[in-house]
Amino acid sequence: MKAAILKGPNRIDVEDYPKPEPGQGEVLLKVDMAALCGTDQRVLRGEKNVSVPIIGHEISGTAEAVGSGVAEDILGKRFAVQTVVGCGECPACQRHHQIFCEQGFKAIGYAWNGGFAEYMIMPKPAVDQGCLIPLPDTMSDAEGTLLEPLSCCINGLRYLPLEEMKRVVVMGAGIIGVLNALVAKARGVEEVIVVNRSQPKLDMIREQNLPIDYLMNSRDTDPVAWVNEHTGGAGVDGVVVSASAKSLVNPGIQMLALGGHLSIFAGFNKADPLEPIDLNLIHYRELHVHGANSSVRRDYIEAIELLQAGKVDSAKLITHTYSLDDFLDAMKAQSDPDVHSLKILIKP
Ligand SMILES: [Zn+2]
Ligand SMILES: [Zn+2]
Repeated sequence: MKAAILKGPNRIDVEDYPKPEPGQGEVLLKVDMAALCGTDQRVLRGEKNVSVPIIGHEISGTAEAVGSGVAEDILGKRFAVQTVVGCGECPACQRHHQIFCEQGFKAIGYAWNGGFAEYMIMPKPAVDQGCLIPLPDTMSDAEGTLLEPLSCCINGLRYLPLEEMKRVVVMGAGIIGVLNALVAKARGVEEVIVVNRSQPKLDMIREQNLPIDYLMNSRDTDPVAWVNEHTGGAGVDGVVVSASAKSLVNPGIQMLALGGHLSIFAGFNKADPLEPIDLNLIHYRELHVHGANSSVRRDYIEAIELLQAGKVDSAKLITHTYSLDDFLDAMKAQSDPDVHSLKILIKP
């Protein structure tokens, strides 16, 4: 089969790779579509280590073969892939919350080969834990790839009472920032403000006519001062940090209203993750701080509902599709601000 093979930092070659065969308890998926994620760029640059040669974790595929012990009635059915796989035994895994697995979770496309190939194996623990998420017939393969990033945003925002919030600021205008903004809108936030330093990215969102109320370039406008003026000094109810810049955390805290919620969706440079914070702001202003780290089945199911209800419009988010042969062009396009991409798909 054809696959994009990671050879080392900044080197991926599309070449032949042995087509896998499903062993006991495993499922062979024909990859219908797989999306590029910002994390894939970090893996390519050597900033994030993976233990397999084939990455790609935003996947929709069709069950083509099953190993012994797997019911054949799933053959021919289409699935999205829940990336996170736990031990399957601990209390968190038992309640299908593998993010909190006591053994630490492993992920498809990191610990097992992923979706930038014609075929991939769903390993036994993933099959056993229900990590094949059935796609509705009305959902396209392309749309299916959005379930993973969208489900991560749904999980990350789960502990924010968005239904009661008037204003939320999302820092970062990549696809994750946009998806966070759309989930906030879908859950009833009146005004969502997306902040970014890149005007092309903001222009791109404007061109796609997404339901985002304000697009702010933080090079021209100080977001803290703007929020202060725009809200008569009250602040916003929620801030979502969706860009990997720890310098965004302090302004985020400063623009929160009393009792406001800060969600740290993005991860930061592991070599330098410290940031001084005025803890008295959190104490006296009764702020809430949340983390976010991937997603599990309940989040995928809600992501399907949001897409099917039209609250997240995939046609406005998927901007480019490349063949697997053109994988390197796709990676280049993803990191080129002139390309104006939001989500880039690979069709094997
Ligand atoms: Zn991703
Ligand atoms: Zn576990």
